[in-house]
Amino acid sequence: MSDCIFCKIAAGEIPSTKVYEDDTVLAFLDLDPQAPQHILLIPKTHIQSAADITAANSAVVAHIFEVAAKIAAEKGFSDGFRVVTNCGEQAGQSVKHLHFHLLAGRDFTWPPG
Ligand code: AMP
Ligand code: ZN
Repeated sequence: MSDCIFCKIAAGEIPSTKVYEDDTVLAFLDLDPQAPQHILLIPKTHIQSAADITAANSAVVAHIFEVAAKIAAEKGFSDGFRVVTNCGEQAGQSVKHLHFHLLAGRDFTWPPG
């Protein structure tokens, strides 16, 4: 999608602080961190939101969770982190390209706000 900011980040057209990258997934620091560790994980292909995950594209979602676990281990927070995706405006999704927030380094409340 030509007007999608996360597609542009995935293509290297907008800079980001990369944490991990392979052929299908990119992880980079959130610009407005909500925890001491706040990393975004995205598929490089455009999927609008969690509501658009299907049998045809879900392999990359499984891979994103593998990458999240790998990053958590490498950064030493495997024992406490949260993975969140906001789907749709009511849930606070501001960027319409599927992304998972990987948050760590502080206590988290439940239920989330
Ligand atoms: P959401 O509100 O769940 O859609 O999350 C979008 C996230 O993207 C927010 O946490 C923003 O801080 C983050 N964000 C937006 N633009 C950028 C950018 N250019 N680089 C890094 N993070 C960004
Ligand atoms: Zn996109």
